[in-house]
Amino acid sequence: MPEMKKIQNYIDGELCAPQSGNYLDNYCPATGKVYSEVPDSDQNDVKVAVNAAKKAFPQWSTCGIETRSRILYKIADLIEDNLDRLALAESEDNGKPVKLATNVDIPRASSNFRFFASAIVNQSTEAHITEGQAVNYTHRHPIGIVGCISPWNLPLYLFTWKIAPALATGNCVIAKPSELTPMTAYLLSELCIEAGLPKGVLNIIHGLGAKVGEAIVSHNDISAISFTGGTATGKRIASIAAPMFKKLSLELGGKNPNIVFADCDFEKALSTSVQSSFANQGEICLCGSRIYVEERIYEKFRDAFVDKVDKLKVGDPKEEESNLGALVSKGHLEKVEGYVNLAIEEGGKLLTGGKRVQLDGDNANGYFFRPTVFEGLDSSCRTNQEEIFGPVVTLIPFTSVESVVEEANGTAYGLSATLWTENITKAHQVAAKLKSGIVWINCWLFRDLRTPFGGMKQSGVGREGGSEALKFFTEAQNVCVKI
Ligand code: NDP
Repeated sequence: MPEMKKIQNYIDGELCAPQSGNYLDNYCPATGKVYSEVPDSDQNDVKVAVNAAKKAFPQWSTCGIETRSRILYKIADLIEDNLDRLALAESEDNGKPVKLATNVDIPRASSNFRFFASAIVNQSTEAHITEGQAVNYTHRHPIGIVGCISPWNLPLYLFTWKIAPALATGNCVIAKPSELTPMTAYLLSELCIEAGLPKGVLNIIHGLGAKVGEAIVSHNDISAISFTGGTATGKRIASIAAPMFKKLSLELGGKNPNIVFADCDFEKALSTSVQSSFANQGEICLCGSRIYVEERIYEKFRDAFVDKVDKLKVGDPKEEESNLGALVSKGHLEKVEGYVNLAIEEGGKLLTGGKRVQLDGDNANGYFFRPTVFEGLDSSCRTNQEEIFGPVVTLIPFTSVESVVEEANGTAYGLSATLWTENITKAHQVAAKLKSGIVWINCWLFRDLRTPFGGMKQSGVGREGGSEALKFFTEAQNVCVKI
């Protein structure tokens, strides 16, 4: 048997084993087999990394925006140069189709670095002039050492979305990817070395959330935490970090409504709704899992939607024609199955899907699940209230703007919403009433990296993206000069 590939931590510019010498199994979701090992790091690794970051901070925070920008551009270029290798690795680790990783995940990881490399050299700062008396200007300082913790669904994409602005603004970073999908973060550490990122500026520590994640959150010298993940984890992190007066950015779960009015462009609404339901196996926090369809077109939409969903191919993520790959883990597959059973118990009518897909050959033990559609469930049931984070959606008819807005807003979450109508006045009016951090009108997942990104209610605290991220990762200082 060839030796299993061992992922390494990236601390003080070196690839290294965890202090404990312990590793966890890393599974390939498409085969159900262990294919690599990931460090089972703990607080000792965090301590070493924080010491390295402390040593690196004085130089990194004062080396100048041109230097930082140049290195970030170099990392962006290297990600692009390694597109195919990174996309394959992302797919093997997460289960998503290689095609999706090639077209979305990896290019976006590169864009994240490129965007913030450019943002810091194009930024201006505010000045407030108290006429005839004083000039105030805002000086934004890097915070110091910051923690970045990211989930498994868009591994490199979300990991770099945090790291890039943190580094660009002059901070040193202690970062932890999900232990379910550590591979591309590991490959990124190799690229950072190649790009000449100074030692200790970025430290990537692998391992379990409850162990190494909490060690990052609770370390006294880490002054800010940027976290993306589940709402329950976010609550736990806030309970530790808030009393320590750490700056916190929390990007959490969602249960997003997708509202289809009868006056929509039917074909566009239909095909994008299939995508917004099942892209990345439905494992995107922005997927629209509650599809509200105006009663007048409900049956027509339902039949056409189910017909399209039936044509989606669940298959080997390496195959070009696979629309959905494998779910990320056995545990997650069982969770999704549990929700399908719950939907049936709650009286839902299963229109399609609802079962595992048995592939053959190497994929015989993979975690594949059919895209699943229910109807007949009201907005208040658990299926329509709790985040499933998989390929399961419900169709719900509605009769008026007032009722659909109330139902769309009727969950604990408020991340994103999509609405479909050709009546632009109505679109603006409905958008303003939706309690969601992001509203897409006649599109979905269209992203401009300058816009604020984040959720209301239990979907999060704070915003990422553009100037919001630059502000989060800096301390604003007002300097007042008396004239
Ligand atoms: P989790 O909350 O389980 O984990 C997210 C990250 O936090 C992982 O790296 C995890 O490590 C770590 N973690 C877990 N427990 C702790 C802890 N006590 N202290 C510190 N770190 C911890 O989320 P998932 O990985 O399961 O991701 C899915 C969730 O992420 C969904 O709810 C989804 O909606 C949300 N999400 C939100 C997005 C947004 O922008 N709002 C975008 C993408 C996803 P480990 O893997 O070892 O558990």
